[in-house]
Amino acid sequence: MTLTPRATATLVTVAYLISASCFIIGLKRLSSPRTAVKGNLIGAVGMLLAVLATLVQTGVGSLGLILAGLAIGSVIGALLALKIEMTAMPQMVALLNGFGGAASALVASAELFKILPHGTNASAFVTVPIILGALIGWVTFTGSLIAFAKLQEIMTTAPITYPGQNIFNMILSAVTLVLAVLIVRDPTRVSYFWILSALSAVLGVLAVIPIGGADMPVVIALLNSYSGLAACATGFAINNNALIISGSLVGASGVILTAIMCKAMNRSLANVLFSAFGSAPEEGTAAAAGATGTVKGYDAEDVAIVFDAAQTVIIVPGYGMAVAQAQHAVRELADLLKERGTTVMYAIHPVAGRMPGHMNVLLAEANVPYEELLDLDQVNPHFPEADVALVVGANDITNPAARTEKSSPIYGMPILDVDKARTIVVLKRSMRPGFAGVDNPLYTLPQTMMFFGDAKASLMKLIQELKELGS
Ligand code: NDP
Repeated sequence: MTLTPRATATLVTVAYLISASCFIIGLKRLSSPRTAVKGNLIGAVGMLLAVLATLVQTGVGSLGLILAGLAIGSVIGALLALKIEMTAMPQMVALLNGFGGAASALVASAELFKILPHGTNASAFVTVPIILGALIGWVTFTGSLIAFAKLQEIMTTAPITYPGQNIFNMILSAVTLVLAVLIVRDPTRVSYFWILSALSAVLGVLAVIPIGGADMPVVIALLNSYSGLAACATGFAINNNALIISGSLVGASGVILTAIMCKAMNRSLANVLFSAFGSAPEEGTAAAAGATGTVKGYDAEDVAIVFDAAQTVIIVPGYGMAVAQAQHAVRELADLLKERGTTVMYAIHPVAGRMPGHMNVLLAEANVPYEELLDLDQVNPHFPEADVALVVGANDITNPAARTEKSSPIYGMPILDVDKARTIVVLKRSMRPGFAGVDNPLYTLPQTMMFFGDAKASLMKLIQELKELGS
């Protein structure tokens, strides 16, 4: 049975509508760890449907080439997904965003050649999306490659700055915009289009190099949103509803995620993008010198005695837990404590680690039950009644200076009230500061016990001592 072109168009529209609904339901389900896996699957089914619907349309090009591309892409994607370490997820996301941006830019560029025969009569409803698709797409591509290189430490993670940097970037942006206007007025100026594409690629690099490696997750969320906008613009250029809807959803969710991350750090987006946060502290500053005050180091035996007597323990994981891959040891300690009748909770700060949800994912990998993970508002009232707050490689998110020190770079950032617990046990390797580069007065409080060493090794020693105490 062959369908009439009209019936095919209706079928494709209905399929796009169903796939758009799948994207929305999938996104909603991704907002909770409990429903995230199903949400991901629903989104993937929606995308498969959208791809199939696109393929049945006439004029999509060589089916053989498309299927070969799909097969190669799927194999590379599956291999990467299987191989990638959880701690390398941010750079993986950066690469995927970048490829999304490049794909949109290439499709937009191809579309320009289709409208060339119309000359200056081409509608601005097509030329504007083509230019936006190429501009945002190339910025996303090269910006994401730099974000990837910084996170993978292929290049320096420190902010790269030079005098007049912002002004230079602004001039470059202005030139790009002027070119964009000239191309809209006369789309046959193909050479202008190539210059615009090249300048966009340069802009992507220049916009990301002044941002420190540890701020990259925020940049990645923003670039994710850009990749959505590029796809949306390209969707308008080729008149594809599925691309317009999915691009808008990615654009909007990326912006929301960026806003959540900035809010949780109490920093504006402008501060993240332009302040070169994470530069080396100046010689002689408190941050450069390391923490001052009396710090008391303890060994596993001392710490085990405290845990032996504890009724309530709150575990506070941070970036160091991810570095040490200590999540399984954390779970083992929690199980041991629970067997002994101790109440155990986990305190999850929204920007603990280097990606939103970083701690949730690691703890889920170690099969820690979701219901034991409490967010900032839920857990803070429990700290005053906790016998022990166990800080596993967390620093900035526990820093009481964020509440009191107006001059601190993290002043105003909501923190976990670890300092209110009866005893605080901190697992870290040295007195080096965390990402924000500031001292943490938590370490010199009288009730704080510093247990220096790699978090995983320290936890294993602690578990051993506790077992010996119990036998
Ligand atoms: P921090 O970066 O503040 O501190 C991590 C601590 O872990 C360090 O003090 C380090 O101390 C310790 N550590 C590192 N490796 C180990 C190890 N192997 N064993 C034991 N300890 C170790 O991390 P937090 O999670 O407390 O805070 C996150 C920071 O990242 C915040 O400033 C936040 O604003 C920022 N950020 C977070 C984003 C997110 O989305 N999550 C995004 C962008 C920024 P030592 O070297 O002495 O061991």
